[in-house]
Amino acid sequence: MKEGFGNVWTAELPEGCRLCMKGAKLVLFVTGVCGRACFYCPLSKKRAGRDLSWANERPVRSRDDVILEAHRMEALGAGITGGDPGVRMERTLEYIRLLKEAFGPEFHIHMYTAMALGGRELKELKRAGLDEIRYHAWGKAEGMWESMERAVGAGLSTGVEIPAIPGQGKGIEAVARRMEGTGAEFLNLNELEFSHENAQAMRERGYELKSETSHAVRGRRPWRPWRPAGTWSWPSTSAPHHTRTPTS
Ligand code: SF4
Repeated sequence: MKEGFGNVWTAELPEGCRLCMKGAKLVLFVTGVCGRACFYCPLSKKRAGRDLSWANERPVRSRDDVILEAHRMEALGAGITGGDPGVRMERTLEYIRLLKEAFGPEFHIHMYTAMALGGRELKELKRAGLDEIRYHAWGKAEGMWESMERAVGAGLSTGVEIPAIPGQGKGIEAVARRMEGTGAEFLNLNELEFSHENAQAMRERGYELKSETSHAVRGRRPWRPWRPAGTWSWPSTSAPHHTRTPTS
């Protein structure tokens, strides 16, 4: 077991996580549109359901905004988030190509999706330059396991990233077990946090703040998961990670 920057993990961290921990990843929010309606979704009103892109906190009005922001923060890579980047595939492909052309093949790009992407889409993502894909395989995950197999077959580093919901240990363990055999390499569990947007839904389900000085959900840490053969990690950041942006 290894620890650092408030995270714990086994084996090796995915490259996307290593660069995030260094603060070297541009957060490229492709769209606020998403086909899911997770009760814990922390997307702010200014982003949720709105088909707009942001590079960190910079609204993207042209391709230049993406490049300028990546230069400003001296990014070594990008995490492509939403919403779900999978619902705006052409835009996602365009951004990946743009970043790889501007910063070269070493610029590491990972993306999040809650969709069971098809083989053609995954191959296109790989051809465009995507390095790593993370599936939000929680709730309705039909077809996602097969999609993971296709992602692995397309040559993408593939993993699962889901929230560590208190009381849902068995469900999380089932996800870990289901991952086996897909070829996926890692399972990331994000700690659940209250946000302005999800607070009511969280309270209705009986979740409470850990303390008055923390946004964390009480009871989020005691369970320790069964470990899949690859890496599992427990980042300290709010769930779900794929919706995170620097300040909103
Ligand atoms: S948490 Fe992610 S998958 Fe769920 S509704 Fe929000 S953006 Fe969509």
